[in-house]
Amino acid sequence: MKKIIFISAFLMIFSMCFSVSAMESDGIVINIENANVIFDANSQWTFQEQQVIAQKITSEENEPFATYGLTCTLFGHKYTLETVQVITHNVYGEEPKCLKEVYNVSTCSRCDYIEEELLSTVRISCCP
Ligand SMILES: [Zn+2]
Ligand SMILES: [Zn+2]
Repeated sequence: MKKIIFISAFLMIFSMCFSVSAMESDGIVINIENANVIFDANSQWTFQEQQVIAQKITSEENEPFATYGLTCTLFGHKYTLETVQVITHNVYGEEPKCLKEVYNVSTCSRCDYIEEELLSTVRISCCP
């Protein structure tokens, strides 16, 4: 009997924790310097791929990572396309201080190709 109470208490605590963390954000957030890169919660990319993409989007370079494998040279890339949001904090000196950008990011599942296309930019006030 004691054991059953213990297990149900454990399950209750576990489900409480789970719902709290699910409520906090509806995506996967990677923080790079003063930016939050937000991926869809059901993103097809692995966490490791998301980190590479986040680095690429927040870096100054705009060159696509173009290392074509032989298969891609012959048949073209096998694209994965998703929307990624980037919130950069305290970009401007006056309100609204922060910047929200939305990108279409395409990657190739066969090689290291990553390309981002800026869809929209909007200033937001989220920092005091
Ligand atoms: Zn490719
Ligand atoms: Zn902010």
